Amino acid sequence: SHALYALFQSRCPADRNKTLLEADDGHRVTYAEADAEAARLARLLTDRGVRKGDRVAVQVDKSARALCLYLACLRAGFVFVPMNTAYTADEVAFLVDNAEPAAVICRPADESVVQGIAARAGDPMVLTLGADGAGSLADAAAAVPADAPVVDCDPDDLAAMLYTSGTTGKPKGAMLTHRNLAANGQDLVDSWRFTADDVLLHALPIFHAHGLFVAFHCVLLAGASMIWLPGFHRETVVRLLPRATVFMGVPTFYTRLLAGEDFDRDACRSMRLFTAGSAPLLAETHMAFQDRTGHAILERYGMTETGMLTGNPYDGERRPGSVGVPFPQVEVRVCGEGDRPLGTREVGGVQVRGPNVMKGYWRLPEKTAEDFTADGWFRTGDIGRIGDDGYLSIVGRAKDLVISGGYNVYPKEVEGVIDDRPEVLESAVIGVPHPDFGEGVVAVVVPADPAAPPSEDAIVTHCRQHLANYKTPKRVFVVPELPRNTMGKVQKAQLRETHADLFR
Ligand code: ATP
Ligand code: MG
Repeated sequence: SHALYALFQSRCPADRNKTLLEADDGHRVTYAEADAEAARLARLLTDRGVRKGDRVAVQVDKSARALCLYLACLRAGFVFVPMNTAYTADEVAFLVDNAEPAAVICRPADESVVQGIAARAGDPMVLTLGADGAGSLADAAAAVPADAPVVDCDPDDLAAMLYTSGTTGKPKGAMLTHRNLAANGQDLVDSWRFTADDVLLHALPIFHAHGLFVAFHCVLLAGASMIWLPGFHRETVVRLLPRATVFMGVPTFYTRLLAGEDFDRDACRSMRLFTAGSAPLLAETHMAFQDRTGHAILERYGMTETGMLTGNPYDGERRPGSVGVPFPQVEVRVCGEGDRPLGTREVGGVQVRGPNVMKGYWRLPEKTAEDFTADGWFRTGDIGRIGDDGYLSIVGRAKDLVISGGYNVYPKEVEGVIDDRPEVLESAVIGVPHPDFGEGVVAVVVPADPAAPPSEDAIVTHCRQHLANYKTPKRVFVVPELPRNTMGKVQKAQLRETHADLFR
């Protein structure tokens, strides 16, 4: 069988009573128990009429049962559709309407709202699942046997549909196949040397590819174990790290870990690997982390549509500010106008190809056609540069590129110059409509010390000294913090909206 579930079963430890995950409160789930729970939930949903290929939309808090629900969907050939737990009723309504699921699983407190949404969207069944595992899903499942078969799947059948983070527009459903997930998972296990001895400290959300696929699939494919946290809580992570060997985080996890002196070499004594991604890791954070712990964070780059694309090497130099080299089954190129491949050191659009790349965007055939070249390369929408040594650096997103007076301004270059000021913690550079220049460059700056914020004049003067005039911000705003989503991504669209009328 080509079902991802069958692949996981083939990697299951010989001792099926091995711990798959252990929660913070000591509650353990073994491989055998997770398998049985997946079979039970699959049987329940099948009995209630969910069929192979049907979507199961899920907006629940992180729990062991939520993970088993994902496994149940894989087992039965349903398409798992997780939704960000921060999404409001309007956002859930958009996704449910779009995905047309056969079932929606939500938090008990949201039941009546979600019932209303479901009633207006083809009336899928609604079941509840709380952070503690309780709810109508568990109640109904208690009455059925744990005997659903592993449904045979074609490699091109959908396993999951994840919506993109919505950083640059409305979230898009990325159709991911059993082949996509299996190929990428295997690349990560090989590249990161996962073995059955590993213990992953899991603090990421599971509605996103990072926590669901990158982290969980490495564990399942290696027959390893996880320590399972409901979310990122700094003190808990520092306390439990000495029992783990691998930790995966978004950049903000690392800056928060570094914020307290109790995070040091001793806290990392059992660790072999720290990885970062989903948003750019500042070179400064990488270096501070190495100074403090002796570990070089392995930064990798990927996206919902493709899984992981490049990563710094396990052996070999992990370069701050670079996202490394392509994973084994992935091809990466940087292209200019007309999809012409560029040479090393040239800046252009990052395109990728491989068995990891999604089938397409759900019900967006035109967008899908637009984002794939005739010969099957996927346009990531990111701008990058490949060095002579083959390492890729991400310069930014095409949609964040500012064009001022006809000149291209790469926000990252300007941010780098601003961030060099000691009174600046971090910055975001955006373009907003300008009557003369098309777009005007604007900087939003977070002070290092809120009591001593930088002046607009000081920043502008500093930029003039280091940058061409057209790159220098026309206005600078000081804010206490940058708007970020749960994955630590800076919400530039929101900043552009805030300042949209600045020059009008
Ligand atoms: P949307 O596609 O809806 O606008 P999104 O692109 O933020 O949202 P994701 O698929 O979660 O949704 O994120 C993928 C993007 O995250 C990549 O295209 C890239 O811009 C960024 N990214 C991921 N890892 C890194 C990294 N290590 N360095 C820089 N950027 C990264
Ligand atoms: Mg994207």
